Amino acid sequence: MSDYDVDLFVIGGGSGGVRAARMAAQHGARVMVAEEYRVGGTCVIRGCVPKKLLVYASRFRAEFEDAGGYGWTLGHSTFDWPTLIANKDREIARLEAAYTATLQKAGVTVLKHRAVLADAHTVQLASGKKVRAAYILVATGGAPSYGDPIPGIEHAISSNEAFHLPALPPQVVIQGGGYIAVEFAGIFAGLGAHVTLVYRGENILRGFDDDVRQHLRMDMEKHGVRVLTSCKVAAIEKGGSRFSVRLSSGNQLAADCVMFATGRRPNTAKMRLEDVGVQIGKDGAIAVDDYSRTSVANIYAIGDVTNRVNLTPVAIREGAAFADTVFGGKPTAADHLNVPTAVFSDPEVGAVGLTEAQARDRLTRTDIYKAMFKPLKATLSGRDTTVLLKLVVDGATDRVVGCHVVGEGAAEMAQLAAVAVKMGATKADFDATVALHPTTAEELVTMRTKSASYAREAAE
Ligand SMILES: Cc1cc2nc3c(=O)[nH]c(=O)nc-3n(C[C@H](O)[C@H](O)[C@H](O)COP(=O)(O)OP(=O)(O)OC[C@H]3O[C@@H](n4cnc5c(N)ncnc54)[C@H](O)[C@@H]3O)c2cc1C
Repeated sequence: MSDYDVDLFVIGGGSGGVRAARMAAQHGARVMVAEEYRVGGTCVIRGCVPKKLLVYASRFRAEFEDAGGYGWTLGHSTFDWPTLIANKDREIARLEAAYTATLQKAGVTVLKHRAVLADAHTVQLASGKKVRAAYILVATGGAPSYGDPIPGIEHAISSNEAFHLPALPPQVVIQGGGYIAVEFAGIFAGLGAHVTLVYRGENILRGFDDDVRQHLRMDMEKHGVRVLTSCKVAAIEKGGSRFSVRLSSGNQLAADCVMFATGRRPNTAKMRLEDVGVQIGKDGAIAVDDYSRTSVANIYAIGDVTNRVNLTPVAIREGAAFADTVFGGKPTAADHLNVPTAVFSDPEVGAVGLTEAQARDRLTRTDIYKAMFKPLKATLSGRDTTVLLKLVVDGATDRVVGCHVVGEGAAEMAQLAAVAVKMGATKADFDATVALHPTTAEELVTMRTKSASYAREAAE
């Protein structure tokens, strides 16, 4: 590899790129990373981490309200958006510095530039410099997509800008039904804004279990978020500092902020990938094999730019698998089976494995266990909320193939349930596990009665 300036050039210093670079360096490779914005990528700078900090902020209102039923009398509470954003920014800057230091400590050279391909072994930096590399890893992530153009779309913000608004908008219209849309609906509403969620599909959170989707929508509406489905934003007009939002239904909404959370597209544009022979799929994502190798033998791609499972821990795993495969002498395919996922909405969602619909489609027999109840905490507080816990079981093998929770602590539950589901635990294993009382999660090991059982109809 000595004909090259480096053994590995990583384009993109996000979750996947940072992990791949560090691990490749630990395997002895000479590594460079180019990052055009901020080291840490979407997750650290304008994704998971700042989002979760805003979610925490948004939950205090309910806690303050609930405290009354438990005997607390609280003083008049106020919320200051600029304080939250400044504190969040300080923490993100700290994390960015920590990520950069980790890379440098591992011997990785970090270049703060945009990089594109010049040929299959050469990277061209925005500074004009060219670097020759034995291997190139494209880890450029994704960016918000606004969907089909509509009049006034330039007035809409994406999640990127939502993290830097100068003030909390009193009235917010969010278009989208995915996890980012419902999370920001919860954030803005929890902090005191009036929120309308507009989604063109029949119900929010497409891809999640149907009971979860219904339950979340019901609880979001109870908590004051207006959810309009089978409808979309048709036009946005600016009048002074406010906006008038015209819907496809003909209705008009007033808003101080219009946010589009209508999906993300892989960052492959103007990278000259196709010029060097890297095949791009029709969704704009880089096509890769199980080892994240592209159609060009020495070019690999990981993370959101490949549009497989667009989550940080998955990008990290793919980065590690790449480093082990190429520099560690241990070919490792990234494992995308039973990846747990959470939606930090109000209430929270946690899930792993198959939805009921997927199981009924794939398995010969599917058993469903379901519990819905008012959590203990809501008794004294009087909060109008219910939790949902659901297990999807393969009726032929008794294996638990799916676990879905809506309610406080759902994400934490899903992480642990994922261990059991990944190990192939059966419903009998869940039943044999002694409950931890009093918790919400105990219901996962105490549900004895099937709520439904389905046999797959024979294919015609
Ligand atoms: C609002 C939001 C909330 C999210 N919440 C969660 C969550 O709770 N949990 C979860 O698991 N995931 C979450 N995600 C998804 C998660 O952030 C991504 O899956 C993850 O960051 C993907 O990592 P990556 O390495 O593929 O790309 P990224 O982290 O996006 O990193 C790509 C990097 O490449 C840089 N780059 C792009 N092009 C170039 C170029 N030509 N030259 C140099 N640099 C370039 C970009 O600036 C970026 O820093 C969230 C995403 C968003 C937007």
